[in-house]
Amino acid sequence: MKIAIFSTQAYDRRFLDEALQAHPDSRHIELVYQEASLALHTVALAQGCDAVCAFVNDRLDAPVLEALHQAGVRAVLMRCAGFNNVDIEAAQRLGFFVARVPAYSPEAVAEHTLALILTLNRNTHRAYARVREGNFALDGLLGSNLHGKTAGIVGTGKIGLATARILNGFGCKVLGYDPAPAPEFAALGTMVDLPTLLAKSDIVSLHCPLVDATRHMINRDSLAGMKRGAMLVNTSRGALIDTPAVIAALKSRQLGFLAIDVYEQEGSLFFHDRSGDIIEDDVFQRLMTFPNVLVTGHQGFFTVEAMREIAEVTFGNIDCFVSGKHCANEILP
Ligand code: NAD
Repeated sequence: MKIAIFSTQAYDRRFLDEALQAHPDSRHIELVYQEASLALHTVALAQGCDAVCAFVNDRLDAPVLEALHQAGVRAVLMRCAGFNNVDIEAAQRLGFFVARVPAYSPEAVAEHTLALILTLNRNTHRAYARVREGNFALDGLLGSNLHGKTAGIVGTGKIGLATARILNGFGCKVLGYDPAPAPEFAALGTMVDLPTLLAKSDIVSLHCPLVDATRHMINRDSLAGMKRGAMLVNTSRGALIDTPAVIAALKSRQLGFLAIDVYEQEGSLFFHDRSGDIIEDDVFQRLMTFPNVLVTGHQGFFTVEAMREIAEVTFGNIDCFVSGKHCANEILP
């Protein structure tokens, strides 16, 4: 079994190698690490492999899947939860086995969400830089208590529930919106419709998948329906947000704070050191100019616990593919 692992960094190799060593059938599995992301022009790197292992910004549309199939690949192993970058219907038509890692430490993303909220709420991102410069003035660092605020969770799945639990601990009133609400949410907050959630929340946090119905769900109209000066947090997928509309709302002060771990055009930026490059994305660069905007480069999942689980579940998915046994993590149309 030969697997081409795309978009790999040193940390991916570390955890996948560890999981491989612990695997009972490790002698029969060969991992071929590729730094390149998967796209039509990099499919050749998977030539002769039985499977590809891909990540959030790899492209698995119909042309890429067809080219992979011609190269002899028969399985797609996503080492992430989201699969908006996979054309599932094309994959099924071509007979691919497609699996993902649906639930690796939802707390990793939920805790990162809180890190973003607390940073913006108390200006610790600005205080950090100031104090290192010997500037101990408090002017401009005024924050507000999280206790007593209303937080709206859009998507009350695994990560949304974990976030709601933490916000409960902070003494927030929690609202939720989800077309298929989890029964566990009833103990944590109140389900409302999306316009009510947007209108009533001091913090709106997005935890739903990117599908046609959710693409640009935060747009000019929904931003206008938010409480003036509220905080918007997106640790889910960049395209849930219409970024130019968000910039307009920040400029008009309708939106008070923005924290994002994901960005619609992140594919050409995130996961690489671009510090010596000229970044040509003017929308992204405009975001960087706001003192009340905090951006991290898709690191919500990035904890030791989550990386370990991703690697272990991926090997479980490989076993399913090899044995043909039922796979709970298989993605079907
Ligand atoms: P999940 O499947 O457990 O929960 C998603 C929830 O969203 C479900 O309850 C679903 O009913 C709900 N939903 C579907 N359509 C909706 C809509 N139109 N409006 C509101 N809710 C809707 O998924 P999860 O594990 O909680 O992950 C949520 C998202 O987080 C993933 O789709 C992924 O994009 C993102 N994610 C990001 C990172 C990161 O590193 N930043 C890591 C893992 C996952």
